[in-house]
Formats: sequence, C-alpha cells, structure tokens
Amino acid sequence: MSSADTLRDLKRINEKYQMFHAMTDDVDAGDSKFLFSAKDNLTSKDMETCAGSRILEGYHPVFDATSIEKLRAAGGKLIGKTNMDEFGFGTFSTNSGFEIPRNPYDLDRACGGSSGGSACAASVIDDHVSLGVSTGGSICCPASFCGVYGIAPTYGRVSRHGLIDYGNSLDKIGVLSQKAADLRKYMEIIAGKDERDPTSMVQPDFDTSYKKMESVAIPKEGIEGLSKEVESVFKDAVERLKSMGVQVDYVDMPSLKYAMPAYYILATSEASTNLARYVGMRYGHQEGDHSLKFDDYFTEVRSKYFGDEAKRRILLGTYARMAGFGGRHYAKAREVRQVVINDYKRVLETHDAVLAPTMPFTAPRFSDISKMSALESYKADYLTVPANIAGTPHLSVPCGYDSEGMPVGMQFVADHWNERVLFSIAEDWEKQFDLRRPEVSI
Ligand code: GLN
Repeated sequence: MSSADTLRDLKRINEKYQMFHAMTDDVDAGDSKFLFSAKDNLTSKDMETCAGSRILEGYHPVFDATSIEKLRAAGGKLIGKTNMDEFGFGTFSTNSGFEIPRNPYDLDRACGGSSGGSACAASVIDDHVSLGVSTGGSICCPASFCGVYGIAPTYGRVSRHGLIDYGNSLDKIGVLSQKAADLRKYMEIIAGKDERDPTSMVQPDFDTSYKKMESVAIPKEGIEGLSKEVESVFKDAVERLKSMGVQVDYVDMPSLKYAMPAYYILATSEASTNLARYVGMRYGHQEGDHSLKFDDYFTEVRSKYFGDEAKRRILLGTYARMAGFGGRHYAKAREVRQVVINDYKRVLETHDAVLAPTMPFTAPRFSDISKMSALESYKADYLTVPANIAGTPHLSVPCGYDSEGMPVGMQFVADHWNERVLFSIAEDWEKQFDLRRPEVSI
C-alpha cells in the first residue's frame, strides 16, 4: 500500500484494528518524506493527547514532545496517536480508557502493551514507523505479539520532554517498525541531548556504525516458565543464530527473579506521584461542583475518570511510599535494581548481549485476558522488566511463529549506550528471517 493509499484508507483500517485514538484529517501526504505515528502519551500540538486516560480527554497540548518535534523536522508527517494502556499501565493495551487495538494476526487477540497501538500500526501499515514508550517492557512486548522489530534505547538516550510520565526513572522512548533498518534510521533522528530533559544531557555520542554481534548469553532464568510453543520456536532461533556465527553460552543471572517485584514497587511509587497532578483543574476534564472543597472536588473527578488499573497503582504506590514503609519497600527495591544492573554488567563483560524470548507466550485472546488477575498479568512481564529496571537498551525481533501462526519474539539486551550492536543484529537477523506479514484487509 502506498503512502497516499494508506492515508485515504486510514480511517477504514483503523475501524478494524483500532490502533489510533486520534488521527489526522489531512489525507494529503504532501511533500512529507515519511509517515509516522506516536504513542498517545507523547504530546502533539495538532492532536488530542490522552495517554489512554479519560481524565485527559480534551487535552490539546501546546507543544510537541521532542521526539515528535524531531521527526517532523526531518520531514515526517504525524498521522495518528496510538492507543495504549492508561498511562502505560498494562501488558495487553486492554487497560485503555478508549479503544483497544486488535492483533493484526488474529483480531480476537491483544496487541500487547502498553504500546499496543504503535505495534499494530507498524505491523499493518507499510513503510510506517511508530514511536513507543517503555517503562517495563512496553515496546518489546507489543513488538513481539505483533511480529515487528522494536527497540527501547538506553535510559536517557532520547529526551523525555513532552512524555506524560509513568515512572520517571524508567521511561524510555523508542521505535517500532516492520523493517530492521528503520530502528537505526529513526533512532538517529530522535536521540540526543535536550536541555529540556536533564537526564538526556550526560549521554556519550550515538555511534550507530555496524558492529557484528559476536556472542550472546542466555540466562537460565530467562528460559523458565515458557509456553511449549515459545520454547520450541526460541530453540530453533538459537540454532539459527549459531549458524550465523554467533557464539551462544548459557549463564546464571539469579537477580532476574527479583526484578519483577522490585519493578512494581518502583514503577507504582513513581506513577502514584505522577498521577497526583490530574485533579480536574489543569489538564483535560474540568467538571463537577466547583464550590466543593478541593479534596472533595478532585476525589469526584479522579473517581470518575481514572480506570481501575490506575486506581490500583495509586493505591499500591502510595502504600509502598507510606511513612515508615519507604525503607522496607522502595529503598529495598532500589537495592534490587542495583543488583540486577551488576548482574548484567558481569555477563556483558564477556558477551555482546543477553538473550531470551521477549514474552513467555504468544498474544493471548481477549477472552483469556479478562480471566487473568492483576498479579497474573504483572507476572507476564518477567522477561522484559529486568532490562528496564537496569536502564539497558533492548531489542525485540520476530523469531518465528507458533502452530496458530502467531508471532514469537526474542529479546537482546546490550550494555548501556551500546545500541549499535542491537541495530546490527536486527539487520543481520532480518536478512535470513522469513517475515510473515499479516493479511491486511479492510
Ligand atoms: N506491563 C508493565 C506495567 O504494566 C510495563 C508497562 C510499560 O512499560 N509501560 O507496568
């Protein structure tokens, strides 16, 4: 599908797949060099920005997020803001206050989360690149479920200016695409120092030149708890990597087991403070009885417009930070984070990357997700969370398909600032991988 056709058919495509929350009305590609979409937690001047939350309905930011600003300056046209879990809270994009994106390979299944709409757009639309955001795995998980390439860079590589924060010490903006080469191409545009985000100011130069991935380490902890199908597809993929000349070793990384509980303490603690600003006064909805006392007014607005998962995370995070408990929970979680970082550093001294499947199963059906408890869905993140709490760059590549034709992804984690080895393996892998596009009909 050409760019022009894509724009004309966009609305119909979207009716079927529900990837966009907001879309451009301007169907003329004009002289734009490329089309892109962005997760709806990145502010955009000409489109409503809600971060998947009803509390932000009607919010029209007055500025572009740096990553969007840079893509536009490079000749990109923003065609849509993608559906996501509310504020990024989820693994399947089903915790959205708005539309829930459908998996391009099977409409009864989820796209993954929380950048589900971005992965869907990257999978369904040709020549398309989508910006995603990862806090605990939200780029790699949906990339894996939708059979596309996705990279979350080192924490601090891309400015978070204009990002509606989930967990400030964790959030990273990255890229999803059908084509491996797009990861390098578009990351080069969005990366770099930005005075409006101090955490981006200390990064080394972005060397994106080719560097062959020579060796990977597979942690034993990363291949436990997999579905049979993911296990067998991953095994074949590892054989193929070996045949590409990559040395594969098996290692122990005992800290990985503790990353998931630590993550949910850190992430919810930060999220619960970030959500304090949504009180029905500055952004989005302003309604209700203005003569009420402030506490009563904001309780009314927050009760009505936050979804269940946002409320759960406010409770969890507030509890974790409660006076007298901070040391027991938050401080301990930070210690675990350091132990995880040390474990990666140890293994990455002798290997180019740590490798495991991206997700322990393929995209689940909506009917199965609705039966999952919150804890069960948190647990699904055990493979993506460790690299996120370590702030290390990570990449998901499609590595095969299960017996029902659903994509399986594998995730490479490199050392801080070493994205180049990830771009290179993505491109090398793509050359010999038989990507099965979903059948897109409207
Ligand atoms: N599933 C994880 C969570 O719910 C990660 C989400 C994310 O990276 N935004 O927190």
